Amino acid sequence: CKYVSSDIALIGLAVMGQNLILNMNDHGFVVCAFNRTVSKVHDFLNNEAKGTKVIGAESLEDMVSKLKKPRRILLLVKAGQAVDDFIDKLVPLLEPGDIIIDGGNSEYRDTTRRCKSLKEKNLLFVGSGVSGGEDGARYGPSLMPGGHKDAWPHIKDIFQSIAAKVGTGEPCCDWVGDEGAGHFVKMVHNGIEYGDMQLICEAYHLMKDVLCMDHDEMAQAFDQWNKTELDSFLIEITANILKFKDADGTHLLPKIRDSAGQKGTGKWTAISALEYGTPVTLIGEAVFARCLSSLKDERVQASKSLTGPQGVIFGYALYASKIISYAQGFMLLRQAAVEFGWSLNYGAIALMWRGGCIIRSVFLGKIKEAFDRNSELQSLLLDNFFSKAVQDCQDSWRGVVSTGVQQGIPMPCFTTALSFYDGYRHEMLPANLLQAQRDYFGAHTYELLSNPGKFNHTNWTGHG
Ligand code: NAP
Repeated sequence: CKYVSSDIALIGLAVMGQNLILNMNDHGFVVCAFNRTVSKVHDFLNNEAKGTKVIGAESLEDMVSKLKKPRRILLLVKAGQAVDDFIDKLVPLLEPGDIIIDGGNSEYRDTTRRCKSLKEKNLLFVGSGVSGGEDGARYGPSLMPGGHKDAWPHIKDIFQSIAAKVGTGEPCCDWVGDEGAGHFVKMVHNGIEYGDMQLICEAYHLMKDVLCMDHDEMAQAFDQWNKTELDSFLIEITANILKFKDADGTHLLPKIRDSAGQKGTGKWTAISALEYGTPVTLIGEAVFARCLSSLKDERVQASKSLTGPQGVIFGYALYASKIISYAQGFMLLRQAAVEFGWSLNYGAIALMWRGGCIIRSVFLGKIKEAFDRNSELQSLLLDNFFSKAVQDCQDSWRGVVSTGVQQGIPMPCFTTALSFYDGYRHEMLPANLLQAQRDYFGAHTYELLSNPGKFNHTNWTGHG
């Protein structure tokens, strides 16, 4: 039968799944398409996939029978129960060594659970972050696969062929690590995306309300920044958004309701940061900034009674803050590697994000170089390139933050980035007093600088 030789099956024919199939087809792979609602298989074959080598399946049994072994099955369905439901249905149809890949936005702990449970059944499970939206899926996403490593040699060719390419054709896809590591890295990527976007929004706010720049001037500044270290997808689209005019000839941006939505991956990053005690303050602030923005009605009310003051070079402040955000993101990855015993290749992660995805930028190439120089780098801020970059930006960065504070412009991410930097660079923080307070009221004990590891308690009041 001509159908027994599909290279891979893909389940889930919504936008992401369809585009990934067409991408795989473009790269010479024969894909078997399936969907819970089977009529969508026919629709897809008769429309978007017409004239391609893509084949369809009528049922999971039919799909499994059309696959080369070891079978490779990629799920692109709604994250959550739908993934478990499909896994449960697939398990009885598969043989040891077959591979199930989840390319949806699954929570990393779910991926770890699925990986462990399928390992007991001798099946290889992979959870892969897929970034870049619909366009990325169609023409080259950033792919972050993790899970059962034995699967990697069997999927590497397909994954690296369809991934975005940067530089001299390096794919934005490499093996991330065990269990839920791929989805964890995707989660941190999304958190960083939140941070990048909020920083840009804060720069826009300052330019608009303090410098009173018009849309064309702001667009020009972003275009200019896109020719510097800030060269990135998000800066580029911001310039385009600022220039964009509505059908009536006026700018569209100021007409858009300032209430931001979120799907939760930024929140997951902030929760992980709290859970593992890593000070990823900027992403946390970026999530809270979206929450504050969504209190639109309350803010409209407050703006009537709460007044602010009446009423530089931002590029540097933006660049320095961005460095802090990425330094924090990589700190969280390092901590997760310790927590879960994952061996993460940080340079490869930077490269995976270098193209294809929303946070793609020239800057990520510099991060890759930093980890190439030292794969055990404790913090990006300890790399010479980045420490010098922050040093060079510092005066302007401080100027922008103090101007914003004086002018009453909320800049949670700019300010937390600077506070983090100042905290991180201090050999001595006032936490000695905090420890003394804790010991005072709760006998929590403290260590002396001169004798770490030994815990003391003082009777601070001299009574009893
Ligand atoms: P989606 O709307 O998240 O999911 C639709 C697909 O899931 C359909 O194939 C649907 O089948 C199936 N499905 C939904 N509930 C199901 C259930 N209970 N049982 C079985 N199948 C079920 O599709 P999408 O937007 O293409 O996204 C697919 C995955 O990629 C999601 O996890 C999403 O979060 C992720 N995603 C990533 C990006 C990115 O930029 N990386 C962008 C968008 C989405 P029916 O047709 O039968 O309803």
